[in-house]
Amino acid sequence: MQRSGEYDVLAIGGGPAGATAAHLLARWGYRVALVERARARPRGLAESLPPSATRLFHRFDLADLLQGSHAIAATGNTSWWGADGCRVERFGRAGYQIHRPGFDRALIARARQSGALVRTGTAVKRLHSSADGIVVDWRSDAGRTGCYRARFVLDCSGRAGVVARRGLRRASLYRTQALVGFWRHRHRFPMPGDADQTHTSVESYRDGWAWSVPISPRVRSVAVMTAGTSTTYLRELARAPHHATLVAGAALTGRPWSSDASVYDSCRYADHRVLLVGDAGSFIDPLSSFGVKKAMMSAWRAAVVVNTVLQNGEASGEAHDYFERGERDVFVRSLQQSRKFFHDAAGFHGQAFWAGRSAAVDDVLDREQAIERSTNGEALSLDPDVVRALRSLKEDVRLDLRPQAGVRVEPVVEADGRALVKRDALATASLKDPIRYVAGVELPRLFNMASSYHQVPDLFEAYNRAASPVALHDFLGALSVLIAKGALSQQVPT
Ligand SMILES: Cc1cc2nc3c(=O)[nH]c(=O)nc-3n(C[C@H](O)[C@H](O)[C@H](O)COP(=O)(O)OP(=O)(O)OC[C@H]3O[C@@H](n4cnc5c(N)ncnc54)[C@H](O)[C@@H]3O)c2cc1C
Repeated sequence: MQRSGEYDVLAIGGGPAGATAAHLLARWGYRVALVERARARPRGLAESLPPSATRLFHRFDLADLLQGSHAIAATGNTSWWGADGCRVERFGRAGYQIHRPGFDRALIARARQSGALVRTGTAVKRLHSSADGIVVDWRSDAGRTGCYRARFVLDCSGRAGVVARRGLRRASLYRTQALVGFWRHRHRFPMPGDADQTHTSVESYRDGWAWSVPISPRVRSVAVMTAGTSTTYLRELARAPHHATLVAGAALTGRPWSSDASVYDSCRYADHRVLLVGDAGSFIDPLSSFGVKKAMMSAWRAAVVVNTVLQNGEASGEAHDYFERGERDVFVRSLQQSRKFFHDAAGFHGQAFWAGRSAAVDDVLDREQAIERSTNGEALSLDPDVVRALRSLKEDVRLDLRPQAGVRVEPVVEADGRALVKRDALATASLKDPIRYVAGVELPRLFNMASSYHQVPDLFEAYNRAASPVALHDFLGALSVLIAKGALSQQVPT
């Protein structure tokens, strides 16, 4: 066995999570190693990135990866979901369709350029603690073995979950198998109506859903998502009439293949100096088209935690809480979104497949008491008291706001660039967890200004002069939260 080096951070896996974390941490000056099991990936999924992902690529200095033969700009989605009719959604700005083999290669190359040591064709086998770090044993596909020592390990090994599977990962919520084929059309795929060829298409059917993504003008990946294993790709595809029509004049480019796409989470995401990053910690339903963005966000949170703890070991507890909270909130939010899709499909198709998924998601959301616990603006915007306060603000622009007794200002930990910092947040009797932002609006600042203004437009303008400007809708949402959650009382005008 050869001993091969000492690192600040070792990332297991070179998917979007591992390669993004390695890129960021190497750029921030750390000694980083990335170990990836595959040497080259000839085959891989085509996946959709929502328009909101573009901002992340810019922020991480990775925007050039959205160009090249592995990426196509996409203008929207075409769906047949829980209804007979077709719905065409057009994005305001571009989303992207990426072909993962080329995309992952480019992202790993970027991590290497940024200064990380990258070792492909090498699988991590075991981890054990030593007095001065974590020892990671590896084996290359040529049979060589060795070990690295690192101060932090990021498990970015996706579904394989090298660390996650050792008692941290929970059982899947429900089983989903993806059956995937790539199709080449001699002319153009017959997208309905005036839908663009760059669209993702998605269709619910009785016992599953079908989904297609272009990787070039003439080639699309077409997948069917089912619960069982006792079916074949073509038999299943025939059950999704719109996608069966889509491929009618096309030919398969190779053998279809299958991939596990079951949803899971973990009971913990941080274990001393090991973090579960991206899909290693949780897998959200691919319906969301959010997995890559989630993995990159998770990588950024992990990089911030590593940087904070390596600078100041005493911040370790807060940093771990921050990471846990971020990972859990993303998972819960994705279930809230899936619930709507599953309920719509269950209402239309009325099948055990959809009812089972709805029930599984409801159970977890009950377990997490998501609405109560979650401090994200999306959850709060559904709160009936907040909805009522918003309605009256929209009906009458006059304000007479008074601070209420019992409002507390407490620190919360949030990321600022590369580090975690403490900032003021507001809590009240009915907002147990302190909140700093709702829809990008700083609650403590708005709270302090609110009683000095007597018209909504005046308060809105003053807030936007004093802080990063926000849209009126978001501003009103945040003000409604302050009123509904007992931070401010609005005197009823006589
Ligand atoms: C059918 C399907 C459709 C999807 N569609 C979309 C979509 O449209 N849009 C979207 O954003 N997301 C989609 N996703 C989700 C997306 O693929 C994942 O969320 C994303 O790949 C997560 O990135 P990751 O880096 O965490 O994990 P991965 O991409 O899984 O990377 C993990 C890496 O770890 C490596 N590895 C594993 N074990 C070891 C080991 N022992 N040693 C070293 N390396 C190891 C693996 O080889 C792999 O490269 C889809 C997923 C599926 C299954």
